[in-house]
Amino acid sequence: MAFSSILGQDKTIKRLRSLVETGRVPPAMIFHGPPGVGKFPAALEFAAALNCTRVPFTEAAPAAAAPEEPADGLFFAGPESKAPAPAPAAAARPPEGPAPAPAGDSCGLCRSCLQAKSGAHPDIRVVDTLFQAALLDEDESANLKVDTVRELTRWAQQKPMLSDWKIFVIRDAEALVPQAQNALLKTLEAPPPNTVIVLTTSKKNSLLATILSHSFPVEFAPLPRAVVAGLLTDRGADPAEALKLAALSRGSMEKAAEAGGLMLRLAKLRPGDPSRAFKFAAGLPKDSHLAREEVKTLLELALGRIRAAWRAAEPPAKNKFTALLRRTLELRRMADRNVSYYQLLEVALLESERAGLKLEDLLDTAAAEANG
Ligand SMILES: [Zn+2]
Repeated sequence: MAFSSILGQDKTIKRLRSLVETGRVPPAMIFHGPPGVGKFPAALEFAAALNCTRVPFTEAAPAAAAPEEPADGLFFAGPESKAPAPAPAAAARPPEGPAPAPAGDSCGLCRSCLQAKSGAHPDIRVVDTLFQAALLDEDESANLKVDTVRELTRWAQQKPMLSDWKIFVIRDAEALVPQAQNALLKTLEAPPPNTVIVLTTSKKNSLLATILSHSFPVEFAPLPRAVVAGLLTDRGADPAEALKLAALSRGSMEKAAEAGGLMLRLAKLRPGDPSRAFKFAAGLPKDSHLAREEVKTLLELALGRIRAAWRAAEPPAKNKFTALLRRTLELRRMADRNVSYYQLLEVALLESERAGLKLEDLLDTAAAEANG
């Protein structure tokens, strides 16, 4: 917990902390930047910091909705937690004024922080496709619908239940269908008091211009490569592999995970198998959005590989790579249209292999290029 858990976004976090500190919080904010750089966890930390009371929660306080594991918060969240005291001892401590937390951050010890940590804070709500599926009692869909926004609007009109602020975090807000965006706009234009709506998105331009103009922008940058490598190692990756994936990640943990999946699939290909490109393309994700993202990543990698081969080649071999480069660029453009990603990838891979560029080398060359 606390903003210190968000790595590689120092400038942005400083800005968020100063908003919390001054209490001058815009009613609508848009956290935008590449996927997998900490926008959503930062939105949750921001919500926790806004509602933090800095009064350590004790058993003596009303405990009707106490989270299941307050001890976790007591042990790990603040400087005092270093002593391995059992929860009852900590709870018996008399209320002692503000807990030591950096200005504009959450303390991790108050009732609000504990509820935020357990995900059960009544005034901090996450709106995403998973939440929508539960709300509307249907399968998870790729879009956020107008009915979901209407529910949010209804809540926004109510008073906070526990804290000073009601915070709604709309995760991956680009999933809002236009009708839902229009419904949201009404709330953004006349925000209820003490309500903050945070939209997180890696596709800011998918949102209506009117939504953007009513939202305070907070930009998240790609993560430094060392941060990505560190996070991957923390999650159990081998250090050498973490460095390679970090080089391929373009500062995004999501891209790093995607590259990791691709490496695994590439490792399974048998050398000399004539249907390798076919088999590899068949492993694309079923979800068309994910498939498109993966195909675009692969085409970027292929382009890097082809450019390197082109630079190293002498005429007449150079001409072969010039033609392949042109063709792959064309396929890359097509990937933004509604095409069969599976076929598109297969064609690209077959043509690269025909020019003597092996599939297995795609990631290695890209990593080498990114490092160089
Ligand atoms: Zn707190």
